[in-house]
Amino acid sequence: MITVKSLHKKFGDVDVLKGIDLEVEKGKVVVVIGPSGSGKTTFLRCLNLLETPSSGEIVIDNVHANFSIKTTKQVTDEVRRKSAMVFQHYNLFPHMTVLENVMEGPVSVQKFPKDKAKESALLLLKKVGLSDKANDYPHQLSGGQQQRVGIARALALQPELLLFDEPTSALDPELVGEVLQVMKDLAKEGMTMIVVTHEMRFAQDVADEVIFMDEGIVIERGNPQEVFTNPTEARTKKFLNLIQ
Ligand code: ADP
Repeated sequence: MITVKSLHKKFGDVDVLKGIDLEVEKGKVVVVIGPSGSGKTTFLRCLNLLETPSSGEIVIDNVHANFSIKTTKQVTDEVRRKSAMVFQHYNLFPHMTVLENVMEGPVSVQKFPKDKAKESALLLLKKVGLSDKANDYPHQLSGGQQQRVGIARALALQPELLLFDEPTSALDPELVGEVLQVMKDLAKEGMTMIVVTHEMRFAQDVADEVIFMDEGIVIERGNPQEVFTNPTEARTKKFLNLIQ
């Protein structure tokens, strides 16, 4: 369902992604791990076209963008619409209520009628356990609640693919579980997800594939059991020793 071929991203002269290949089947969960600065965030941002890849191809759900030749705005818009991102620092609009945050994408970007968008947003808030917070502002919520709004807001865009960029690393430890639980529920429902995280337990329990990245390339990939208990590459072993 998603194919990434030889994806490169340069910032100026710096090669941050040096040829990433990936295939993700519909309904699968891929966890991306790797040291800070290895290009994990840049990779997610390229998939969502928050950054434009320097070269390579992305195929999502039969929409094909080839960045090695010039892509049209229509194709990039189509690729962008296929995925939605959940950010480390939630990135909610502070001046909007929780409900307005979840409605914003469908109303402003997708031009949904307001009443329809409101109905769906309320269902999504129920799904993430925040029906009673619909009229609160983000600052009135805990970090875990804000991140659950972040997930509802991403779901409101009805993406084929959800991208999570370290969704729990800004949270106090006692709030991590409630966010991971929502993510586990989504995985169970068959949502296709690519998750950058240091939560190894989550990766063990939920990932179909774990990818270890370092210095802009994929060093090792496999199921969680293989990568965590029997890594073949020295760099993977070193990284796992450091974080465990
Ligand atoms: P990770 O998520 O694995 O920590 P990032 O993708 O955030 O890695 O960063 C990879 C490298 O790309 C880092 O060296 C970072 O400084 C660089 N980088 C990321 N974004 C930009 C940018 N907008 N401009 C210049 N360099 C960037």
